[in-house]
Amino acid sequence: MRGRKIQIGKTSITLYARHRAKCPLKSDNSGIVKCDCIRWIQYKDGTRETTGQWTWPKAESEARRIVTKNDAGPAVATDPDEYTVERAIDEWIAERDKDELHNVKARHLTAKLLDWSRERGYEFLHQIQKQALREWRTSHWKYKNKNSSSLKVHWSVLLTFFNWCVENDLVKSNPCPSWKGKIEPTEVVPLTQEQMDTVLAAVDLVPGWPGERRLRYGHSSC
Ligand SMILES: [Zn+2]
Repeated sequence: MRGRKIQIGKTSITLYARHRAKCPLKSDNSGIVKCDCIRWIQYKDGTRETTGQWTWPKAESEARRIVTKNDAGPAVATDPDEYTVERAIDEWIAERDKDELHNVKARHLTAKLLDWSRERGYEFLHQIQKQALREWRTSHWKYKNKNSSSLKVHWSVLLTFFNWCVENDLVKSNPCPSWKGKIEPTEVVPLTQEQMDTVLAAVDLVPGWPGERRLRYGHSSC
């Protein structure tokens, strides 16, 4: 039996560790596993939600708090539709931190995503649609070179983030359009003889060019 069963008032839940891909104890689904993965609640109807806690005692207190609160009023278990962009980002970064993954780009790009979401009035993950992301990328991601490799790398960070959201049932499908554009090498157009002469003449006029570079240009005129 996965996780640990807990009776809270009339509600019985299962508390379990949602293992990270790199967790050394991920084959252990018991309710006593001593890893530091995030603990989740599973309800009888199969719905799940995170406690936002990484240890059994803290997760259990949080579960009691959540269930008691839910039992007091109408059922308000967090369903994926209520997952905010910010919460998903926080959990993703926290999980990466625990896996000791390099997080500089992840933090930077998700901060950018969060700013954009707020500007657009998107509070919840499910509000982010593919078309909006595509429009954002085309109109707001300014790089010197349209097909620059850093654009591709940065975009792939967001793809990874949304993949994680899908794996964790926070969204049904990845809204992030993949980067289809190939990184084309800049096309080389030969200069006319006239342009060449101008370039070569200009080389001597550029102050501060190292001799080696000057020599290289000089050679091409031979
Ligand atoms: Zn684990």
